[in-house]
Amino acid sequence: MAYPGVICDENIDAHNLTSFCIGGKVNYLITISNPDSVCNVIREIANQGLPIIPLGAGTNMLVSDDGYSGVFLKLGDHFCKVERTSETSIQARGGLKLNELISYLTKNKLSGLTFLSGIPGTVGGAVAMNAGAFGDEIRNHIISVHAVTMDGDELHLGKSECEFGYRQSIFLKQKIMVLTADIHVTPGESIEKEVEEYLAHRKKRHTPKGRYAGSVFKNPEGNYAGKILDESGMRGMRIGGAYVSEKHANFILADEDASANDVLELMKIAALRAYSFYGIKLYPEIKLVGFDLEWNEIFKI
Ligand SMILES: Cc1cc2nc3c(=O)[nH]c(=O)nc-3n(C[C@H](O)[C@H](O)[C@H](O)COP(=O)(O)OP(=O)(O)OC[C@H]3O[C@@H](n4cnc5c(N)ncnc54)[C@H](O)[C@@H]3O)c2cc1C
Repeated sequence: MAYPGVICDENIDAHNLTSFCIGGKVNYLITISNPDSVCNVIREIANQGLPIIPLGAGTNMLVSDDGYSGVFLKLGDHFCKVERTSETSIQARGGLKLNELISYLTKNKLSGLTFLSGIPGTVGGAVAMNAGAFGDEIRNHIISVHAVTMDGDELHLGKSECEFGYRQSIFLKQKIMVLTADIHVTPGESIEKEVEEYLAHRKKRHTPKGRYAGSVFKNPEGNYAGKILDESGMRGMRIGGAYVSEKHANFILADEDASANDVLELMKIAALRAYSFYGIKLYPEIKLVGFDLEWNEIFKI
């Protein structure tokens, strides 16, 4: 594949692509830094019949030990920027890391998005996942999104067209790649203090040290997955190199020798316990890549 500003790596270890640092080989990692090449590159991959998954920072993903026979599409340097577009708006590009976005907002005294402090993903991943914390979600601040479909067609979607839901969006449902997001911000003064408070809160309440991908399961309606799993006796449970955090039962951590299968088996036990003890079906928030598994099947016991 020869396009300017496009790098194609083959046979990459998933270890290097996700925060779990586990998983097998990924056939192709294509990094696009040239906006003019995006549509053509996607069309060429689609013409070859290869599956494509947009990849951000890999902080909400588990790749199978057998790897993934397809293409991870990543946004390169050109897409790692943010600019002010009006007194009350910014345009953030999809590949920008959220911590870099927070630094920009702090430096420019812009409020509204500080609840994202400490989430280790990218803007594209956060928009696709409708990332949220402390009672707020990114959808509450989105104006519009510029994106590209996996057929190589560009789209400009207003907020209502993004079909945002709890950790859900049209970008996930239809595998549409977020290129840039126009986002509301509010000029303010004490941004640094807001960020510090969120980070301190996160450190106290949420964050274990180690390799993991944030919350494993989505919260079921009117309840918390962490609470259900805690009451199901999951804290500290271990399979192979994977274990449930002692701090928060909705976090699974991976030791260096953990396999993706260890994590998956632990997830299945957790979901089955929640189902058999409370009749509640838990569904993964993390994205399972390269697994031959229909999650609903695990409840058929
Ligand atoms: C320590 C830790 C704390 C976390 N805390 C939170 C939290 O408080 N709240 C929260 O919501 N999440 C949290 N997460 C999970 C994760 O960081 C977020 O979901 C984040 O938004 C994912 O971004 P990413 O770039 O890493 O996405 P990835 O993990 O790379 O991808 C996740 C999904 O988004 C899709 N995607 C990625 N980039 C794009 C793109 N450009 N266009 C379209 N689709 C894309 C992928 O295909 C995949 O389906 C946490 C994770 C960790 C490790």
